Amino acid sequence: MSDPITKEMIIREVRDRYPGITAVFQAHGLPCAGCHVGSYETIEGGARTHKLDVEAILADLNRFARDGTVPERRARPNNLLTPQTARNDGKIAGIKYVVAVMSGKGGVGKSLVTALLAVTLKRQGYKVGILDGDITGPSIPYMFGVPVRSLTQVPGQQKPNPPVSRGGIPIMSMNVLLDDPEAAVIWRGPMISGAIRQFYTDMNWGTLDYLLVDLPPGTSDAPMTVLQQMPTDGVILVSSPQGLATMVVSKAIQMAHKLEVPILGIVENMSYVDLPDGTRHEIFGPSQGQRLVGLSGAPLLGRLPIDPLITTLSDEGHIEEYDSEPYQTLAQNFLTHLREREEARPALPIISSRSLSGAARPLPSKAEAAATPPSAPATRRDEPAGAASTDKGGGGLQRLGRFLKPDR
Ligand code: ADP
Repeated sequence: MSDPITKEMIIREVRDRYPGITAVFQAHGLPCAGCHVGSYETIEGGARTHKLDVEAILADLNRFARDGTVPERRARPNNLLTPQTARNDGKIAGIKYVVAVMSGKGGVGKSLVTALLAVTLKRQGYKVGILDGDITGPSIPYMFGVPVRSLTQVPGQQKPNPPVSRGGIPIMSMNVLLDDPEAAVIWRGPMISGAIRQFYTDMNWGTLDYLLVDLPPGTSDAPMTVLQQMPTDGVILVSSPQGLATMVVSKAIQMAHKLEVPILGIVENMSYVDLPDGTRHEIFGPSQGQRLVGLSGAPLLGRLPIDPLITTLSDEGHIEEYDSEPYQTLAQNFLTHLREREEARPALPIISSRSLSGAARPLPSKAEAAATPPSAPATRRDEPAGAASTDKGGGGLQRLGRFLKPDR
């Protein structure tokens, strides 16, 4: 007899090992088995996402493995939550919005956009934190000049504090746990996903308007974990005008659609360069922003230029000193779009790229923006007020605990 099927197994592997077993998953109302994205999930993860009884699924899977029995289709539980609501179950009190920043391909400036969106929002008076979900290639602490080994555990306080940047942005990243910033983290997908979850659930984030999550590129385990298992309110997709980047980001768009996570907007980075003589050059080709707007159904939040000052400030750990009009526009469009989404649910208003140049719809003036109190973004309709995290995150920062140092 072959080994029993366990809840830790990846759905895809089970499906490949036992042809026809997809019918068992489907009988339980677990669509992941037939879905390209979800089939990379564990049975336990899929059951959790869809609020299903994992033990009942396992019993039927193992029965199928023994004698090929496909159970009757089970009635969906009355209290079945939609994926979006299920994610909100894990919302941490004090964090209003969790926004993931994603890209299809590495090197398009996703971390930079995360960092500068956080900096710009912070400058406008919002409380912002950054969770660097790029466990194997973290770059956020470097840009902010946050040192390694800078996580602190305050005596008597249950959860450790993430280090805070000079400008007051709490930042959690794998690199703040390490002794050597150049040490390689060689971990498999599930460990990476677990670490990201723990960075969210097991840190003392305090009160935040926005927690921006910088995801590793692509559509692998880690982005999937954040989109499926964390209470992610939406994603921002970063791309560049290069054809290849556009092609790859369309995969990320599909992933967000399949997982039913709202795409809050598209950012086209490295869109152009302005030369000192006043000319503008689109060195990676013409903008693909409109195309991505069409593919995603989400607005183009900004077109950002290539600016060598960004590279210099990033390398010096002083990214918080950067300020430029395109980033102010990006932050403003982000806030406007979020506000409109809240006001107009379930309809999704589109900010066309024309509006970025002011042609279609004027954005709020700075005075209007300033009039919005920092904690003013509309409260979520479905946000469980005061809800504590239900994700036990594998029992605290146990695996990471050896990296912690006491507060002095
Ligand atoms: P990703 O997170 O997509 O892998 P990064 O944000 O790490 O990409 O950016 C890759 C490199 O490109 C970094 O060194 C960053 O400073 C630089 N970079 C990104 N966008 C710009 C830009 N608009 N102007 C200048 N340098 C940029």
